[in-house]
Amino acid sequence: MSTIAFLGLGHMGLPMALNLAGGGHTVVGFDPMPLAVEAAVAAGLTLADSAVSAVINADVVITMLPTGRHVVDAYAGRDGDAGLLDVARPGTVFIDSSTIAVDEARHAHALAEAAGHRALDAPVSGGVIGAEQATLAFMVGASEADFAFARPILERMGRRVVHCGAPGLGQAAKVCNNMILGITQVAVAEAFVLGERLGLTHQALFDVASNATGRCWALTTNCPVPGPVPSSPANRNFEPGFAGALMSKDLGLARQAIEMTGVDARMGILAQDIYRAYSDGDGSRKDFSGIIEAIREGRARR
Ligand code: NAD
Repeated sequence: MSTIAFLGLGHMGLPMALNLAGGGHTVVGFDPMPLAVEAAVAAGLTLADSAVSAVINADVVITMLPTGRHVVDAYAGRDGDAGLLDVARPGTVFIDSSTIAVDEARHAHALAEAAGHRALDAPVSGGVIGAEQATLAFMVGASEADFAFARPILERMGRRVVHCGAPGLGQAAKVCNNMILGITQVAVAEAFVLGERLGLTHQALFDVASNATGRCWALTTNCPVPGPVPSSPANRNFEPGFAGALMSKDLGLARQAIEMTGVDARMGILAQDIYRAYSDGDGSRKDFSGIIEAIREGRARR
């Protein structure tokens, strides 16, 4: 069992940290936000009063932070504050599970390695419910040896742990998967609105497409109209689920990767434009399948 510093105790991080502690690891958490601290104390997690004191005695440091900037600043330090890489014991294993850009993940890895540590990118899918129920899917970018070390730790928080290749490739898998998801959710929403205008009932389109070549998760699990899939967010006024703001963020990371590689991925870029507009409006906190409302009302373009 390891001594693990867990930094970032938000919607995802707190339940993940609790699952590690429940699995027998010694976990010390840290978060600068008072509300997150309150929730962590109430849940019985051991806390440190600074990131440095959480990390100083750890074998493993896990970060679950909002953006790549937060990760790099935490690793390298900012405004004269010591970075975690400076204070950790040599050979500490740094696992970043935040969703960040591929090039930021590679930069964070290079910083960690230069400071004498080991590092993995291990972003997740499965959302808050997956974090609570320890059913997350981890996509890991790491050397074979670091993956073998980290796997049992990740398995305490998730059901599926896939080694995607070298450092950065966990984030690459995450960004490619979420680009498929963003594009298909828009496609399904457009098809339902087109069907409505042509006089097709939602159920008839669902019955055909869910048994035909239009079948996909955005239709059969996250169906954007109420009725055909009773558990989908459309049945509860698009309460998330996966919020529009997070889809907009992830498609922004996909766009960065598209621009970095020069791939002719026009659908990915269009999906980001559509979700950015959705997220700038009332879609920020709604499930991303609520994009159907914007399409129906002609608000999907900027
Ligand atoms: P969140 O905003 O709820 O939590 C992030 C936490 O990090 C906050 O409590 C913040 O105070 C803390 N933090 C910021 N800087 C810190 C630092 N230097 N040290 C310690 N803590 C710090 O976000 P979340 O929903 O938990 O998401 C975390 C990451 O997981 C994001 O990158 C997100 O894109 C990704 N993700 C989220 C979901 C989801 O459904 N929420 C799903 C998959 C992936």
